[in-house]
Amino acid sequence: MTRYDTVVIGAGTAGLTTACHLAQSGQKVLVVAKGIGALLLASGSIDVLGFHPADSLTPVKNPAEKLDDFLADRPDHPYNLVGKETLKTGIDQFLQLVNQAGLDYQGDLNRNWMLPSGMGAVHPTCLAPASMVKGDLSTDESMLIVGFNELRDFFPALIAQNINEQKLGVEAGSISLEINIPIAGAMNATPIELAHAFEQDAFRNQVIKAIAAQAKSYDRVGFPAALGIKQHATAVAHLEKQLNRPVFEISSLPPSVPGRRLYEALKAALLKAGGRLIIGSQIVEGTIENGRITQIRMETASRLKAVIANHYVLATGGIFGGGIFADAEGMVTEPIFNLPVAADTNRHHWFEKKFISPTGQPVFNFGVKANSRLQPLNGDSQPVAENLYVAGAVIAGSEWTRGRTGEGIAVATAAAITAQITSQAAKSLR
Ligand SMILES: Cc1cc2nc3c(=O)[nH]c(=O)nc-3n(C[C@H](O)[C@H](O)[C@H](O)COP(=O)(O)OP(=O)(O)OC[C@H]3O[C@@H](n4cnc5c(N)ncnc54)[C@H](O)[C@@H]3O)c2cc1C
Repeated sequence: MTRYDTVVIGAGTAGLTTACHLAQSGQKVLVVAKGIGALLLASGSIDVLGFHPADSLTPVKNPAEKLDDFLADRPDHPYNLVGKETLKTGIDQFLQLVNQAGLDYQGDLNRNWMLPSGMGAVHPTCLAPASMVKGDLSTDESMLIVGFNELRDFFPALIAQNINEQKLGVEAGSISLEINIPIAGAMNATPIELAHAFEQDAFRNQVIKAIAAQAKSYDRVGFPAALGIKQHATAVAHLEKQLNRPVFEISSLPPSVPGRRLYEALKAALLKAGGRLIIGSQIVEGTIENGRITQIRMETASRLKAVIANHYVLATGGIFGGGIFADAEGMVTEPIFNLPVAADTNRHHWFEKKFISPTGQPVFNFGVKANSRLQPLNGDSQPVAENLYVAGAVIAGSEWTRGRTGEGIAVATAAAITAQITSQAAKSLR
């Protein structure tokens, strides 16, 4: 049976980033996941700290400057486990990883991009694809927002009106196109279908023709984040050349095309570095003996199959990812290893009255308690298993809407775990 250096459970940002770093450092790595995780739901940008205090309406301009205050305010947040330096390393390593894999992410810890959201609100984010960064609302260039009648959940007039009403200094206009998005005859296309359409010259030419006259009155043109998947760079370059002005993408509701591009890039980087990826299989249990994980077991068509490694990384997400499970009786569990979970068992305390609450939703804070090495804890200080680490949203305190720290947790914890596993591997070679 193959013995891996590290097995990562989960193929969201946390799991794939950790796996790529480890595989690139020479480790034999396997990733097993039920599915792609929140990458297909989220915007594709990496939020590190968007608002502080969480109920402030003023976005954070410089996350690095506000981090100390945030860490003091949120002692249970996973950033406090890894520290500011590791967060910075995580950002740098992530940028290097994805840009070497053919994407073009931009940003650093000392500034947030102010991107228009699919509602026309300001979304402060630390790293974003170049195609989104060109929509930054900190500059005063006017923008034409383009939508498609057949695309669901993206309303250009609403976005433009909201931008204008916030008096950000950016004038926005809108146009909604009656162009048919070629999908098997169905109405109500999703961004994925639109992205496939944008990969075709003929479709792009129709769009250019339909908006060319109106676009001349604006400095830049914003589209739903659906400007191609594999042919993204070609699609953007063609539109910019023909429209003779910068073109940018605005995140829309799922499925997320920038998230899909990120997944494809991370997957390609992992495979290139010699890693292995199994998508569509669930890890159902693991064995802990003498303070170490000795194996985990994966569902296959006919039986449970053992998977063995020196290190195991649990990157199964929170409630959204399936890493934390809550039932109708108020039981909250971690389903693979049955790790101790920090949670409130009174279901009446799980949700705030307001859907969008400045205090976030308590249920998203439920997760596995870990020490500063990101090992799950039994009680306050004893690691459950010395070769098990937790990454990303499965960690207690990861509520990401409060302060907007979602993917920041994923990349920071990926960096922390990579550093530990690689330094242990180096020691064992000495
Ligand atoms: C709708 C939405 C929008 C968001 N927007 C943003 C945003 O714009 N910016 C931002 O920074 N953050 C955003 N976030 C938050 C961010 O996406 C998440 O916090 C982050 O992606 C979590 O990554 P993760 O890798 O920890 O978990 P996930 O992405 O949830 O991945 C969990 C992985 O574990 C796998 N898994 C779970 N259980 C098992 C099992 N038993 N066996 C095998 N595999 C298993 C899943 O299949 C999946 O692959 C958003 C989240 C949501 C839900």
